[in-house]
Amino acid sequence: MTETTKGKAHADFTELATFVTTDIAGITRGRSFAAKVIDDYLRKGVGWVPANLALTPFDQIAEANPWGSAGDLRLMPDPKSQARVTCLPDVTPLNFYHADITDLSGHPWDCCVRSFLKRTLDAFEREAGLRVIAAVEQEFQLLGVGWPEAPSFSLRAQRRADPFGPLLMRALEEAGVEPEMFLPEYGKDQFEITCRATDALTAADRGATIRVIAREVASLFGWQASFAPKTSANGVGNGVHLHVSFTDLEGNPVTFDASRPGRLSEVAGSFAAGVIRHLPALVAFTAPSVLSYMRLVPHHWSAAYTCLGEKNREATLRICPTLDLPGSNPARQFNMEYRAADACASPHLSLAVLLKAGLEGIKAGLEQPPLINSDPSGFSMEDQQRLGIRRLPSSLAGALDTLAEDKTVTGWFAEDFLDCYVAMKRKEIEIVEGLSPDELCARYATVY
Ligand code: GLU
Ligand code: MG
Repeated sequence: MTETTKGKAHADFTELATFVTTDIAGITRGRSFAAKVIDDYLRKGVGWVPANLALTPFDQIAEANPWGSAGDLRLMPDPKSQARVTCLPDVTPLNFYHADITDLSGHPWDCCVRSFLKRTLDAFEREAGLRVIAAVEQEFQLLGVGWPEAPSFSLRAQRRADPFGPLLMRALEEAGVEPEMFLPEYGKDQFEITCRATDALTAADRGATIRVIAREVASLFGWQASFAPKTSANGVGNGVHLHVSFTDLEGNPVTFDASRPGRLSEVAGSFAAGVIRHLPALVAFTAPSVLSYMRLVPHHWSAAYTCLGEKNREATLRICPTLDLPGSNPARQFNMEYRAADACASPHLSLAVLLKAGLEGIKAGLEQPPLINSDPSGFSMEDQQRLGIRRLPSSLAGALDTLAEDKTVTGWFAEDFLDCYVAMKRKEIEIVEGLSPDELCARYATVY
């Protein structure tokens, strides 16, 4: 708050509402207007520009984008996605709605990732008779804190940040994202926020909302909440873990089958097989920055191989444990966790490609991959080959090449979208070329 605004009652100000899109750079952008005229804007949306999609995280645009200076679009809000937070001291209410990008007649734009996720969920219902339940877990580090060291996972590490945690939880509750846990993590000044499972579109919206709110709350303390995949070359990574499970169209859980390996039902096994098959191409979207590949290395509890594992934190697709207490129903808790995602990605696009790959597996009736319940890097080359364990791409450039070879995955997208995505990512690679690992971390931390 500046000297001139200090002391002024916020009631005197005009509250803003914003329609946002979280784009392929994982950045939440949008346009604002006076919240009191919301009804008008809910009907007509706000303007948007196609070439915005070609913006790299560093604000330079990929010149080779399909639109140049041409064209006009709308951000059309989803009224149910409103996040309004009034509990933050010394700032006006934060008030925004996630939006789809449409053409001027309100039809979804081919390149809108939120609409792509919606189409994917429709396909899941139509082609597999399944509904997706999802949740997003996100890790971040507080930068600029200047407090004493505290042990990992310790109560002291949490209390050092007080009242950051309680204020963040309050803000997230107010925003309707149903936060569950705020926990100190293993890394330096690292925390994690989890939220309740819900339908997959809402889960993706929550992924973006939680980042926006955590950053804003941290900034009130003079800190930065960084969700960058790494904030120092030798530190731990910040992951975005996507949890998914399925119900039939009546809402009955269908992921669990106690009689099968890993307790995965047949349909969930085929889903896992589709994900494992396409994983090396998927990371081009879910771990989409140059820095992402410093996190996706062995022994980081992130994900470095194509690998389905039960309760194994080196597995890219991890079958999560269930509680066995009286009164708990394993079928309702049971879910798989995709660990090869980070916050440089759009949560909508990450969830969509994960589900698309799984749906391919379901439609083809693929067999469940073998369960790898220890570190996949510990297997001999022969065993890796026999078990279908492949190393994931080790750079963004490598991931883009792998993507180009997987015609099933490239076939999911409109040509303009893919051209723009690849051009933007190639430009991003060019911008950070030659930076040392620590410089790379610092560069990405300015954005994420
Ligand atoms: N920090 C790890 C990652 O980058 C995850 C640790 C965990 O929560 O299992 O994904
Ligand atoms: Mg964690």
